Amino acid sequence: MFELLFLLLPVAVGYGWFMGRNSIKQKDQTAKESLSIKYSTGLNYLLSNQQDKAIEYLLEALKHEDDTVEAHFAMANLFRRRGELDRALKVHEYLIRQPMLSDQEKQQAAFELGRDFHSAGLFDRAEKMFLKLIKTDTYAVKALSYLLQIYLSTKDWQKGLSLEKAIRKSGDKKLMHSLANFYCELAELAMQEDEYIKELELLQHALDLNPNSSRAKVTMAKVYENSQQYNEACQCYQEIFLQDQEFFPDVIDRMRACYMKSDHQDEFYPFIKSVFEKTGSSTALITYLDYLQENFSSQQAVEYLLSALHRRPTIRGFKHFVKMQINEENQQTQQESLDVIKELVTAYLKLRPRYSCRNCGFNSGVHYWSCPSCHDWEQIKPVRGLEGE
Ligand SMILES: [Zn+2]
Repeated sequence: MFELLFLLLPVAVGYGWFMGRNSIKQKDQTAKESLSIKYSTGLNYLLSNQQDKAIEYLLEALKHEDDTVEAHFAMANLFRRRGELDRALKVHEYLIRQPMLSDQEKQQAAFELGRDFHSAGLFDRAEKMFLKLIKTDTYAVKALSYLLQIYLSTKDWQKGLSLEKAIRKSGDKKLMHSLANFYCELAELAMQEDEYIKELELLQHALDLNPNSSRAKVTMAKVYENSQQYNEACQCYQEIFLQDQEFFPDVIDRMRACYMKSDHQDEFYPFIKSVFEKTGSSTALITYLDYLQENFSSQQAVEYLLSALHRRPTIRGFKHFVKMQINEENQQTQQESLDVIKELVTAYLKLRPRYSCRNCGFNSGVHYWSCPSCHDWEQIKPVRGLEGE
């Protein structure tokens, strides 16, 4: 019932507005009287939960008076929000056929119809609606974004490319970034066929749309690696570090493989050490330890790791430390290592919050009965999982 009242709200507004106008303009009185009868009958049907009958009457009312268009849009959108897609579709399809609609209203009807079809999984019909809108001022960006969503679900990368002109014209960064990924998808397909020139062209296109696309750079590095252009591959990895430090740890292994075959082998470990110093990345640290162990001594690697863990404890760092100790044969050293591990784990747990609010996620080292953030009662409880209970 409560939902129904919401549904009635825009209809009632439209009705009230219409009646207000009615009292000012006296001409064509009969038509309006018949309209108000249709409207009140429609409202009655809505109240008695007979939505389909209600729609029938309310749409009939629309035929005679264009003031109610907005109210109909609102009604259809509420149907959609309630998951009643068939009813939303019925109203929108009716609206789009009305000759008295302004251009703007026709566009709105087409867009909403597209959304209905999209929600119903009728992608081909949604696509038709959205394609109509890509040159409009109001709906271009929204329609393009729906179209890219559709082509992503159907893996129609080529169709996405056909929107490039409209996307560039819109100047929307998010759309350009999505389209860059469509080019990357095609480049990966080209890699399966070993089409070197095509791969590079597609990736160049991707970078042209979004010069900061890490994915395009990673894929480009792989293309270079496959064609044994290791110096170029290394350059791509360097650029990824400059533009996305959070993603970078994931490419360290491949980067090392390329550096070892490039003309600049000796530059890799000093670089990776500087990466660890700047970002604290565990992967960079572990990679650098390999170097210390191979070129200096295990002792030196352990010392470096311990000082790193004291500064910034991480689970992956611990794991590596334990791994390095397992091979140790001296009993005395083993006991010392266990003491160090205990000390490190204690320091690590001290850094982690002991409690969290189950309602809002607020973290805390001490217990409160009332959450300091959301003020809910008895929601602060010990953290669960790897670092908790
Ligand atoms: Zn809270």
